[in-house]
Amino acid sequence: MFKSIRTTLLWWYVVILVGTVGLYGTVVYYALRRNVLTQVNDRIREQAVAIALTWEDNADEKADAVAFELTELFPVFAGEGNDRPYFIGWKKDGTVGLVSRAGLEVPFPGQVCYRTRGMWREITVGGSDGRLVLVGEHTGTVRAELSGYLQLLLGSGAAVLALALLGGWFFSGRVLAPIHRISRAASEISGSNLARRIDVGKTESELGRLAGTLNSAFDRLQKTVEQQSRFTADASHELRTPVSIVLATAEQTLAKDREAPEYRESLEAVLRAARRMKSIVDGLLALTRADSGSVTLERDNVDLAEVVEETLALLEPLAGEHAVTLSSSGPRPLIIGDRERIREVFTNLVTNAIRYNHRGGTVAVVVQENGTHVEAKVIDTGIGIAEEHVPHLFERFYRVDAARTRAAGGSGLGLAITKWIVESHGGSITVSSREGEGSTFTVRLPRISEVRPPCDAVDSSTARSLTGTTDRPLTRVQQPIQHPS
Ligand code: ADP
Repeated sequence: MFKSIRTTLLWWYVVILVGTVGLYGTVVYYALRRNVLTQVNDRIREQAVAIALTWEDNADEKADAVAFELTELFPVFAGEGNDRPYFIGWKKDGTVGLVSRAGLEVPFPGQVCYRTRGMWREITVGGSDGRLVLVGEHTGTVRAELSGYLQLLLGSGAAVLALALLGGWFFSGRVLAPIHRISRAASEISGSNLARRIDVGKTESELGRLAGTLNSAFDRLQKTVEQQSRFTADASHELRTPVSIVLATAEQTLAKDREAPEYRESLEAVLRAARRMKSIVDGLLALTRADSGSVTLERDNVDLAEVVEETLALLEPLAGEHAVTLSSSGPRPLIIGDRERIREVFTNLVTNAIRYNHRGGTVAVVVQENGTHVEAKVIDTGIGIAEEHVPHLFERFYRVDAARTRAAGGSGLGLAITKWIVESHGGSITVSSREGEGSTFTVRLPRISEVRPPCDAVDSSTARSLTGTTDRPLTRVQQPIQHPS
């Protein structure tokens, strides 16, 4: 069940406050009561002792005369009213020898003691000859006084409690108001209104930090949603062109009967558009899988130089078409990773380096070891990239020159996929370029960490394989295939 923080806070506040005020009131009341009753006890004991001494000093006189003298001495015993104090003296044989007023019915205590009889507080003291003297005082006034104090304590306790509750309610409201503001602002943020933010200026202390954290989470969310919708819009836009080509070509071709070469030409146009669609759809699928985190990477021991060599061999025909020379050099470090994905990285980079190159240009892949990392540089002598485009190169569907890229068959997704693969291997990719002079894409990947064998007796080939390197140099230069002009 939903329970508001304010109610819970107040509930605990009340429990603690009632406990504290109750305990304090009880201690005060009982201290007061003890004090008042001690005063009564002391007073009647003093009177009883004085009466016993006087009775003893006047043992020879008649009891009535002694009683009269005592009432003269202690006027509280004189006067009217049933609640006035009294004294009684018993002789050794238990017979009453002294009494403050006639008609008193007080049970013989038989010994020295304090006792409470109904509303009366009594004390018995012993005299000489086994005499006992008892003094009794009505406690009505004292009790009324105590009950007055009790009411005062209860009343002031209730007032303190009520004030504290009001204050608690007010302050908890003030403290929790920012939380309400945060929750209101958060609930107003929806798919269509992602720009709304919590006003951090009005939200103090720790809650201000919480609001700030939420705002940055909303910023990230907004960025992701915007990226997603831009991605979807770009994807639809990219697919629309080949789809339109397929539709238009098919409609035009079917509009009248044609010769076989015309059908062939149309089918080739449709095939080119379909291939383009496939490349876009494959790229989209790869990135969507990457975003959802559903891609599992293999963990093979990969000889980077071997992957580079295989990639160059595969791309040789393309390089030939563009009259570009491919070469590779460097050591043969081992890395841990997904061989096919790493191949894809070099396929994308070298394909770009060929496509955006000049005829007669070169593409060199240089592998280097750099401490804990391996670097592979794809260096081309192509058209280069203007400085303002460099920060956006790895964005999805970003193209420096859309018309040229489309003509070259690019989908604008290659570098985004490349970056994802490199980063999911714990590596990084950077680019440096000069417009008109060429570009260098540098892939950094963590190499297999060096393992130091526990003993000295290791032959050199084992040592090399443990460090993930062999000293077989990788140098390979391919001549461009010359096409008749
Ligand atoms: P595409 O499939 O269109 O080539 P990429 O994501 O691989 O998409 O590349 C994005 C853009 O970066 C390309 O359209 C191109 O303009 C630019 N680009 C990539 N590599 C190079 C390069 N080696 N030289 C010049 N421009 C490049």
